[in-house]
Order: sequence, then C-alpha cells, then structure tokens
Amino acid sequence: MYLLYLDDSGSAKNVSDKEVTLGGLCCYEQTPFFLSNKLDDLASEVWPDDPIGLEFRGSSIFGGKEYWRRIKKDARLETYKKALSFLEQSTAIRLFGAVIDRAAVSPEDPIEYGFEQLASRFDRYLIRIHKKGYHQRGLIILDKSIYETSIQRLAREFRDEGHRWGRKLVNLSDVPLFVDSKATRMVQYADMIAYALRRYYTNHEQEYFNIISKKFDNEGGVIHGLVHSTFYASGCQCIACLQKQNVSL
Ligand SMILES: [Zn+2]
Repeated sequence: MYLLYLDDSGSAKNVSDKEVTLGGLCCYEQTPFFLSNKLDDLASEVWPDDPIGLEFRGSSIFGGKEYWRRIKKDARLETYKKALSFLEQSTAIRLFGAVIDRAAVSPEDPIEYGFEQLASRFDRYLIRIHKKGYHQRGLIILDKSIYETSIQRLAREFRDEGHRWGRKLVNLSDVPLFVDSKATRMVQYADMIAYALRRYYTNHEQEYFNIISKKFDNEGGVIHGLVHSTFYASGCQCIACLQKQNVSL
C-alpha cells in the first residue's frame, strides 16, 4: 500500500491568507519507519531531554513557539533545513503540493479544490505504477487539525457516497484518515513541506523550497505533483506555472 500524508501550512482556517497551501509526501508502507527514525534522531540532537515531545511544525520552528522557543533562531532554521534534506535524500518518496489562490478558484472552496487536486494526482500516480505492473492501493492520511475545515465534509462524502469518489479515484482503499500530528513524524514532514511551499509562494523565500523542489512527483521531465492556481500563472516563474506556459506555447 502507498500512503499519502498531507497537511496544510496553517492557511486553511485563516481566511485572511490569500492562499491555501497543502503539502505532503507519498511513500510505500515500509518507508515511514525509516523516515520517522531520522526525525526522532534529529529531535534527540536538538532536545535531548524530551525528543518525543518535540514536534516538528514549520510555523513553530520559524516562530520559535512551544519547545522551539528555547532554541536560538539560527539553530532552529538549520534544524528545519536538515529535516527537509532527509526528504531530498530519500529515493523512496514523492512530494505533492497545492498552492491555491482563494480568489482564483472562487466560488469553489479553495481547500476542497486543493485537496481534490492532490487526491486525484495521487490516484493517477498509482495508475502510473499499475501500468508498470505494480498494483498498489492508496490511503490518504491528514493532520486532524484540518478536520474542522471543508475537508471534513469531503471525507464524509467519501464515506457516504463512496461510489462517486470511487469512479473518480479508483485506487484508494478507504476514507481519508485523520491523525494527531504529535503522534506521527510523517504528518510533521507533511507540515514542513506545506510550510516550505508557503515560504516560497507567500514570502518569496526560495531557500527551503529549493531543498525539496526536485522531489515533487514527476516523470519524464513532467511535474505532476505540484499545483499552483493563480490569476497570474502566465507571469509566474514557479516550476508548475513555467511548465504550463511551455505546454501552451
Ligand atoms: Zn506558479
């Protein structure tokens, strides 16, 4: 089975944010064990007194919140980059991300839009590997903090009208699962991916996104795993928009 862990950058519930940013990673069921260990080891280096209690969340690391409050800013940012580099170094994962300008998809709900885009791209990834003779089902795992957004309704629909989703997403095993990010390092990775996207698209800081940019699902030079919905796609220099511009030339 393939797992897709997703989280938002904290933007989903904050309607004053211009964009909604979702990010995450997909991997085979055996991979979380190894990747989680790496984050556990990093937590032991940074906070030896209580590594398990140290939760990796982009906004907490940047803002120096909770445990991170007691760690100097330079050390916090280095730790964040190190965690992103684990993703960059792994050959067993693919990243997915959606940056959705609320106004660009109006009147559609931007969170629903972004989630459906990623669920469908995950499904298509499973179809691609199926065509290579490798049949795997998929499961989406989300941070429960976004359960209170419109994704909750989508998940309910998924359960109640499975046939509707089943026609669209043929390879998913079950309804999306919601878990506590404290309990799984993999959702913490998803949060850090979403946050790197946010720093790039909202704050125009490339440094963090650049560490992981090549890991967004791609094949044959075509990026499938990154969606940027904006009014200004023709002027945007991000890898997703540049690809669209090249296709339409
Ligand atoms: Zn773009």
